[in-house]
Amino acid sequence: VSKRDGKMRCTWFKDEFDRSLEAMRDLDNELRAALLNEEFRVHYQPLVDARTHRVVAVESLLRWQRPDGRDVGPNVFIPVAEESGLINAIGLWVLRRACTDALPWGIQLSINISAAQLRNPEFPFQLGQVLEETGFPPERLELEITETCLVLDPVVAERSLDLVRGLGVDVVLDDFGTGYASIGFLRQFRFEKLKLDRSLVVDSAVDESLRAMMLSSISMARALKMRVTAEGVETEAQAAMVRSAGCDHIQGWLFFAPMPADDIPQHLAPALLEKDTAKAEPGRKV
Ligand code: C2E
Ligand code: MG
Ligand code: MG
Ligand code: MG
Repeated sequence: VSKRDGKMRCTWFKDEFDRSLEAMRDLDNELRAALLNEEFRVHYQPLVDARTHRVVAVESLLRWQRPDGRDVGPNVFIPVAEESGLINAIGLWVLRRACTDALPWGIQLSINISAAQLRNPEFPFQLGQVLEETGFPPERLELEITETCLVLDPVVAERSLDLVRGLGVDVVLDDFGTGYASIGFLRQFRFEKLKLDRSLVVDSAVDESLRAMMLSSISMARALKMRVTAEGVETEAQAAMVRSAGCDHIQGWLFFAPMPADDIPQHLAPALLEKDTAKAEPGRKV
């Protein structure tokens, strides 16, 4: 490799780097505009009781449709908003929207929170304000966080979580089984709930040793008095498996896909009224 090649390669990397930085800046500007122009929507995905299949909660999931009609998924735009700090404004908007929408539903509401939000010292106070403004009962609210929130800055995270809990809001560890959340972690942060990631659910339906791991995670969670939700359940076989494994709640396309707020109430009324028939009712497929 000659010096000249090396230099060319450096230039090439620099160009690539500049291009991706530019792309990120463009996307960030579009997101800023999206917030002002109200292009965001919040959809809700019901969680059902593993035994009765009754809807017990909803998770809010952010949606963005660009002016050109193209949908962009949160896995694409949230990381960009996190990088720029815009997630703080977007997250606050989601909190207000979701607490307003879910107020009349009478069930638990679960909202995803980014590491950057948890690190923002204003966050717990903003949360308190939203609860007051909307009248949403704190005991019906849960915040879903991922372990990256905690790994990055455990001291700050713990302080924020203490303040959040002081408001009466529960904390849920999301995407469990994808990273390295340890027993020490679970002990330190004392989450009220654990959500088993879809990959763990899918893989343990076909792999015995993973299933054993999932079972021990669930019994560990139980020992720590945590409730457990299985995420991304798409088949009857997966539902049967996570139910017999002792999961309390199930979330996934087998029962419900995420939907606009207006579509939620129709799924609540029969479940709340027909206590006995609910048991025999199979999950509604979407
Ligand atoms: P998550 O919190 O783990 O949410 C679950 C994801 O799984 C959602 O993807 C949901 O639509 C999808 N899902 C639900 N059931 C099934 C199923 O049966 N099969 C499959 N294959 N997928 C299923 P989505 O809506 O694309 O959201 C992706 C991630 O973006 C979320 O993962 C969450 O980490 C993040 N996110 C979404 N909304 C927000 C938000 O308002 N704020 C923050 N900070 N993050 C958000
Ligand atoms: Mg979540
Ligand atoms: Mg999740
Ligand atoms: Mg997940």
